[in-house]
Amino acid sequence: MWSLLLSVQLLASCSSIALWPGAEGTTAADVVFLLDGSGSVRAKQFSVMKTFVKNLTRSLLEFNTSFAFAQYSIETIIHVNFHQFQRTGWENQVDSISQRRGRTYTADAIKTVVEELFDSSAGARPDAHRILIVLTDGKSDDASSYPNVTAQADGKNITRYAIGIGGAFSSPSAQEELRSIASSPDHVFKVDSFEALDNISSRLVKSIVFTEDSSLLCHPLPFNYTLHGLVFVPERMSWVEALHHCAERGSRLLHILDSCTQVRVEELLAMVALHRGCVEKAWVGLERCMINPHAPWEWSGGAVVGHYQRWSPSFPHKPCCFHCGQLLQEGAAPGQEHRTYRWQDACCREKLPFICAPANGTQPCQT
Ligand SMILES: [Mg+2]
Repeated sequence: MWSLLLSVQLLASCSSIALWPGAEGTTAADVVFLLDGSGSVRAKQFSVMKTFVKNLTRSLLEFNTSFAFAQYSIETIIHVNFHQFQRTGWENQVDSISQRRGRTYTADAIKTVVEELFDSSAGARPDAHRILIVLTDGKSDDASSYPNVTAQADGKNITRYAIGIGGAFSSPSAQEELRSIASSPDHVFKVDSFEALDNISSRLVKSIVFTEDSSLLCHPLPFNYTLHGLVFVPERMSWVEALHHCAERGSRLLHILDSCTQVRVEELLAMVALHRGCVEKAWVGLERCMINPHAPWEWSGGAVVGHYQRWSPSFPHKPCCFHCGQLLQEGAAPGQEHRTYRWQDACCREKLPFICAPANGTQPCQT
């Protein structure tokens, strides 16, 4: 049984592990927020804009993302580039941005971002999707420069979102300007007020995560999926938390004792992937004693792993300090119907979705 003490020890280990999903070998996204700091934006509105940026950043942090923040008015100020972005403390970085005021040179700001931020010198990753989110309250003073600037952005494969705020975009010419900034018509978002920005956050996150080329980024749909009595829980938890979650609901973290159950799990995960984009990893009930380095792998509750095993070719990944077992996607590329999963040791503190099964075993297989 997992005692509280053991759980605490467990959570204190594995400190060097990257915890956000997709950190290994999957598509990444570098995101730039470009805030309108011009004089037409009132101080309170600028503050609301920063809150929106923080909410969106928080929503995207669980993916393999990195962020940079800049504001524009008569000039463009890069406040935080990708090198400077702090995965802990980033909210203070946004809070400390103070409004510069002045005229509205939006096109010039996009040019600056394209040249100076989406560059390796600023920490942009060569294999990451490039996403630029432009927030603006009104028409720019340099709209004639858009064709050149957006062509430059297209040349660097930068996906651009235009967030138009307030009534300034009610005129056809202003809407056309918004359309000029964005990569495509469905990347234009308009809201009536700064306070309404949060209303579009969810839609924007979906749009960013589900862009055509970023299908490897999982979308955190808040639903459980059930197939063959197995329940996929998308909420990310540590192994111990997942164990408790299943137990509190009269089930247990999944045991895979035969090929039939393995096949059923893969069918379940294929169904989830159809809705979610992908499932790279999920906790199952594999565990190993932390105190005895020679302890065998067991299914939670004490049954030693038997004759049926589906370990990954790279198992064990870290025999010194990985004591919990996950399902790891292998083989089929995302988008293909059939995915296979192997078992792999992992840091118990990692936050992953997981699979619960009936405590008295899965439904009988017809083999
Ligand atoms: Mg302005």
